[in-house]
Amino acid sequence: MTDRSTTQPTAPGRPGGGPGPDARPDSGPDAAELADAAARLETASPTEVIAWAWQRFRGDVALACSFQDAVVIDLAVQVAPGIEVVFLDTGAHFDETLAYVEAVRDRYGLQLTVTTPGPDADAWPCGTERCCELRKVAPLRGALAGRSAWLTGLKRVDAPTRALAPVVSFDAAWGLVKVNPLATWTDDDIACYELDHGLPRHPLFDRGYRSIGCAPTTRPTAPGEDPRAGRWAGSDKTECGLHAS
Ligand code: SF4
Repeated sequence: MTDRSTTQPTAPGRPGGGPGPDARPDSGPDAAELADAAARLETASPTEVIAWAWQRFRGDVALACSFQDAVVIDLAVQVAPGIEVVFLDTGAHFDETLAYVEAVRDRYGLQLTVTTPGPDADAWPCGTERCCELRKVAPLRGALAGRSAWLTGLKRVDAPTRALAPVVSFDAAWGLVKVNPLATWTDDDIACYELDHGLPRHPLFDRGYRSIGCAPTTRPTAPGEDPRAGRWAGSDKTECGLHAS
């Protein structure tokens, strides 16, 4: 397992460092190519989307995974063998999540990078924007530094803020092409895929945790309740700053 520190130098101009919002990597697609890919892949299967990203970017793309489930990893390894997978260890995860990460890593022999928070993180209480910045955003910035694209497991049904998330787009906030192969999938699609393919489930899922983040800010939800109601419950916080689209 690779352990990347969060203290990698970052270039000015975007929240994650690197080029400014309107810049694109030299080797990246221009606006026309990206628009064409976005239109073609909107109705493509997740493996077709991942295969496009892998063929287009190879070592310049990484998959950021929250390890709430293993679906996006199972799909990715089919068409992008050896792709780097990034897990943001915030230092505040459930023990069950950390065990699940290890189980999934072993199952697939993942090329896994685990980030850790910077030394300043402990000064900020759980639930603050700064806490997420230091435990998630800055570490991901380091892990994606120098890349052209990133893959995520984001789904449109995850939250109203994600309802319009494109399958492929230029992520101005990060200065990278962003690929969401599961954007059009529902929670039922995920559950069916897990069942059909015998995937390991996160151990907390059957205890009512339908959306799993850091332990201090995640609670189980009742049947019929919005799965993300268990995240940052009691506050107006709904995102950790990784996904602007
Ligand atoms: S989800 Fe909560 S504990 Fe985790 S980094 Fe964000 S604010 Fe901190």
